Amino acid sequence: MDFGVGVASGTDALILALEAQGIGPGDEVITTPFTFFATAEAISRCGATPVFVDIDPSTYNIDWQLLEPKITARTKAIMPVHLFGQSADMESLVEIAQRYDLKVVEDACQAIGAEYKGRRVGGLGDAGCFSFFPSKNLGGAGDGGMVVLNDGELAEKMRLLREHGSSRKYHHQFLGHNSRLDALQAAFLLVKLKYLDEWNKERRELAAHYSELLGAAPEIKTPEVLPGASPVFNLYVIRTSMRETLREVLTQAGVATGIYYPLPLHLQEVYRDLGYEKGELPQSENAAQETLALPLYPCMPKETVEKVSALIIDAITKGRAGTRSLSDAPS
Ligand SMILES: *Cc1c(COP(=O)(O)O)cnc(C)c1O
Repeated sequence: MDFGVGVASGTDALILALEAQGIGPGDEVITTPFTFFATAEAISRCGATPVFVDIDPSTYNIDWQLLEPKITARTKAIMPVHLFGQSADMESLVEIAQRYDLKVVEDACQAIGAEYKGRRVGGLGDAGCFSFFPSKNLGGAGDGGMVVLNDGELAEKMRLLREHGSSRKYHHQFLGHNSRLDALQAAFLLVKLKYLDEWNKERRELAAHYSELLGAAPEIKTPEVLPGASPVFNLYVIRTSMRETLREVLTQAGVATGIYYPLPLHLQEVYRDLGYEKGELPQSENAAQETLALPLYPCMPKETVEKVSALIIDAITKGRAGTRSLSDAPS
């Protein structure tokens, strides 16, 4: 991408990317319900309506095969999310977008450095949005974000939008925001940027080690890699029907885990008026019940992967033995 516009957060990157392309009230933007809330919030903040399409359960990313029937005369854009650090299946998605003349705004907030068929995410659509929140793969000491794009005019529009719609002090062409990338954050990020590729490599290696140790375990599904994708594992997320048990065992052993995300966006209270019903997007709803993020960060000792994996396998073995002995017990 030729241009980068620094902004105050990943959320603002999404909002400005949509707004600069003229997306607003009356428009629809297609996205996934299995993501951090900010994805849909940005669409709503622009006055547009998020339209939720279910996920592919093997990657947790938007299922392009379900996308076409959701396109209407009001649809203006598709906002795929590269969840947990892995690219969505972009080839077919971009092809559909081109056929219907829709913009593609990538939510790459969890996936800086990830690749899809040899190209970096964020550079696969009309605009790519990144977050520099400390928990992301490239994190500042506070909030920050960026939009990358090839269209210079659009980049200029975003620069005005982030500064009160003004190119000349105290002269305002349109309503904007106060959303600059703080200079102090930019300084932190410039230093850390040099290490991003190395850190992403370490994340990949640790993830591979988890998958090697847990791949054969019963009741556990390790992350699947989409053909052509090179993920950066912002999160290492397993899927298991024993989530609560495993979570408890790990917590007791002093191991922190996380649930991303417990309630899909189409079922959030704020979106009740959109009229989605429980059961309507089953893959997202099932994933919300079964996903569990294990500890993963660059420089994490390999032994941690081994310890966590051993705790999980032990808990599953005991859990299954427990079930068996109950059902086999003479009545
Ligand atoms: C973190 C995140 C955002 C928002 O980024 P902020 O910098 O926290 O505003 C948006 N979308 C996804 C998928 C994210 O993970």
